[in-house]
Amino acid sequence: MRYFSTRNKGQGVSFAAAALTGLAPDGGLFVPEEIPSYSGGVKNSLGNMDFCDIAFETIRPYVNPEIPDSVLEEIVHSAYPFSAPLVAVGDRLVLELFHGPTAAFKDFGARFMARAFSYLRRGEDKPLKILVATSGDTGGAVADGFYGVEGISVTVLYPRGRVSPLQERQIAGLGGNISALAVEGSFDDCQRLVKAALGDESLRKRLTLSSANSINVSRLIPQAVYYAAAAGKAFAGKTDPDGAATPRAAGNGEFAAGDFGVRAGQAVTLVVPSGNFGNLTAGLYAMKMGAPVRGFIAATNANKTVPDYLESGNYEARLSQATISNAMDVGAPSNFERMAAHFSWDEMKRIIRGVSVSDAETRETIAGVYRESGYFLDPHSAVGWKAADKLFAQGLIGKGSGVQGPWGHGPLAILSTAHPAKFAETVEPITAAVPVPPSLAKTMERKVESRTIPADVSALLEVL
Ligand SMILES: *Cc1c(COP(=O)(O)O)cnc(C)c1O
Repeated sequence: MRYFSTRNKGQGVSFAAAALTGLAPDGGLFVPEEIPSYSGGVKNSLGNMDFCDIAFETIRPYVNPEIPDSVLEEIVHSAYPFSAPLVAVGDRLVLELFHGPTAAFKDFGARFMARAFSYLRRGEDKPLKILVATSGDTGGAVADGFYGVEGISVTVLYPRGRVSPLQERQIAGLGGNISALAVEGSFDDCQRLVKAALGDESLRKRLTLSSANSINVSRLIPQAVYYAAAAGKAFAGKTDPDGAATPRAAGNGEFAAGDFGVRAGQAVTLVVPSGNFGNLTAGLYAMKMGAPVRGFIAATNANKTVPDYLESGNYEARLSQATISNAMDVGAPSNFERMAAHFSWDEMKRIIRGVSVSDAETRETIAGVYRESGYFLDPHSAVGWKAADKLFAQGLIGKGSGVQGPWGHGPLAILSTAHPAKFAETVEPITAAVPVPPSLAKTMERKVESRTIPADVSALLEVL
């Protein structure tokens, strides 16, 4: 597969070049020259296939022939010893994307990316240094994904005192080839330092530099896998039993989903809590490949650039506003450029409906779902839950809505992007003690080892 910049259809590059450089030289994002289709055989059996087999079939056309089948097979099995259960909660479905080591969906992208990088760089002797700026979740997933990968080291920059104790242990508790820098400043400062270092000539002479932010196409593609797996399962009329990390209070059992539950032969609508829109873009890829998806609800917090665009057709990036679902505090979503490269406004409007949710509504939803179902939602997933409620209240989804298309009546799944224990400081005061999954309990025992630096470029260059 060849990859093109969203800003220049002329020059194609290989998957390796697109993945290892991250951003196109003209500042655009890499997109595949075409979105491939599943073969009929695969499309019809998504509901019965193993998660790793779906991962293999989904990723293969994007990396073939650069990553041979036997290597891809190994990569997906080593990346995904966990999967993404589709469980019933109350009247609808929740697609739990937090069963990986850092308990957020970013594990799916980061773990594939690390293994792909390691293979694509075999035989290189100049070490690769990956620089990542994080506001919290990305740094942990990237650090964990690359931990122990030979020939690659990672430096994570995070704003000192502005990530949770758990996130800090995920970022700065591993050691080995992962180092952590606590920057005396904001996330924007961290990002500015990373950009400056990536452009520094003398540093580039010594080290091969790369970044691992969510615009990297090798993080995006593997995220299509859980959409295909969930859509296939729902279409086959199946759900999963609770997984080891499912945050359901004892005594609440598993609920049979009501109006929005699975029915064999019916395609699912997926609600995607969104910030940079990498997750939703991956969903669009899965749908285009042939996964049985009816449509998407793009759920945002107060940062509603994309819902407003879907409404008006005018795209206006803004400054970000701080909310309690802070991994989605993005006013200028970087993946929008990719969505717009593949789909016109009319096409997007036909398959995506945007909804914005306030912090007060998010809190009410966490409390309400816990009260009614004994299920803990993290603030990001709660934005998704509430977005569906708002459309239901407007008569746009659900029984009797009579509406055709992605909204209308049928199975509905909320993507749960993080485990609630990661955001216990917000969730617990309005619910009860959140059960902590084993991977996070282990992380809390780690010792933080990071170096504090002022928010200036020379300090970063000195450390590197
Ligand atoms: C990153 C993140 C999001 C937003 O995902 P995008 O792909 O940037 O839209 C939502 N929820 C959580 C918990 C995240 O970490």
